[in-house]
Amino acid sequence: ETGDKLPALKLLVAAPRGFCAGVDRAIEIVERALERYGEPVYVRHEIVHNKYVVDALKAKGAIFVEELDEVPGDAPVVFSAHGVPKSVPAEAERRKMLYLDATCPLVSKVHRQAERQIEKGRHIIFIGHAGHPEVIGTMGQVEPGQMTLVETVEDVAKLEVPEGSELSFLTQTTLSVDDTAEIIAALEARFPHIVGPKAKDICYATSNRQAAVKKIAPASDLVLVIGAPNSSNSLRLVEVAERLGTTAYLIQRAEEIDPAWLEGVGTIGLTAGASAPETLVREVVAKLSEWRSVEEETFTAVEEKMVFKLPRQLVE
Ligand code: SF4
Repeated sequence: ETGDKLPALKLLVAAPRGFCAGVDRAIEIVERALERYGEPVYVRHEIVHNKYVVDALKAKGAIFVEELDEVPGDAPVVFSAHGVPKSVPAEAERRKMLYLDATCPLVSKVHRQAERQIEKGRHIIFIGHAGHPEVIGTMGQVEPGQMTLVETVEDVAKLEVPEGSELSFLTQTTLSVDDTAEIIAALEARFPHIVGPKAKDICYATSNRQAAVKKIAPASDLVLVIGAPNSSNSLRLVEVAERLGTTAYLIQRAEEIDPAWLEGVGTIGLTAGASAPETLVREVVAKLSEWRSVEEETFTAVEEKMVFKLPRQLVE
């Protein structure tokens, strides 16, 4: 100890941050299923993209698998919050499995919009990230060839669509608000008659978390985003901060913080993706407090009050 006191660290904590209503609901579905049916309860895909949450549910008796054929016929199975292609519940029905659908209602809404567009005879352009489970689930609501994925403005320029078809577009729920606006503008410029959803498909939680980071990033020397590398909405929060010129890191746990990041840093902005629990935020604050005296301040961009109902099977 030199006795030289490091200056206090100002911590701007974004609100809203962390769990959204869809994630809360998905976790509660698994917990209630465990209470009701006993262990094991199978979960197809990580219920939400967070290792801490998945490990906690594993400890309570949940077993995580990637496909339904890994689930024994007599065990209950939960589908993750990201949604599933139609073939998944169809297969569960065929095998007479007991299944619970934890698909976020805001993702299900996009699924129904996709069906409606196809009924109207339109070809769908879907804006999303290839390989993300939500994209696989939404594209799996329609027949192959009825929906084309675009990820970037460049994709729009290269896009080939079935000749003479009317077009509509839909989006993944966890995209960057700004990037998506650019992609939609490019689609509308190239296909002036394309129809889109009245209310955007990007969900309230994604938009609000991005809006909050936009508020704290300019006042911060560094932004920390708690979230998993496969969490779309968390990655977008890092991008939002970086675009405002602030260095930003995605971390899963406090132990990943490199003390060197704090050199010359007076203010840290802190947020968490929609699948990251508040415990992990507290863990980060505790870690930073080991190194510096921390002055924490919450910056609220929007108040959130959203709550989603549980599936009927679990409340009766
Ligand atoms: Fe639902 Fe949005 Fe949360 Fe995804 S991020 S689970 S779409 S509320």
